[in-house]
Amino acid sequence: MLWLLRVIGYTGTLSFQTAVVMGLIKLLILVAVVWLVLKFWRRAQIGNRRAGGASARDQATAAPVMVRCARCQVHLPQSRALRTDDAWYCCAEHRDAKSD
Ligand SMILES: [Zn+2]
Repeated sequence: MLWLLRVIGYTGTLSFQTAVVMGLIKLLILVAVVWLVLKFWRRAQIGNRRAGGASARDQATAAPVMVRCARCQVHLPQSRALRTDDAWYCCAEHRDAKSD
């Protein structure tokens, strides 16, 4: 933020426009550096994930884990299924009907 202070506290050694342009150039360089760092960081993260296997987040964003209702045999995402001790169910009715 030194460039901003320099622009505000313009001393007269540089024209105001030159100071603004230099500040903008520095800002652009800073943005480019941050962008590059983020780009390489994300690439490194993807590489780590590939090396270490799929994370839980990857599994959630990729194909959801499917389970089968023990009552009606319909397949549904595990996140929407109801679980008992030994089985998955598609809805509360089928889960409660288990004891019949
Ligand atoms: Zn069912």
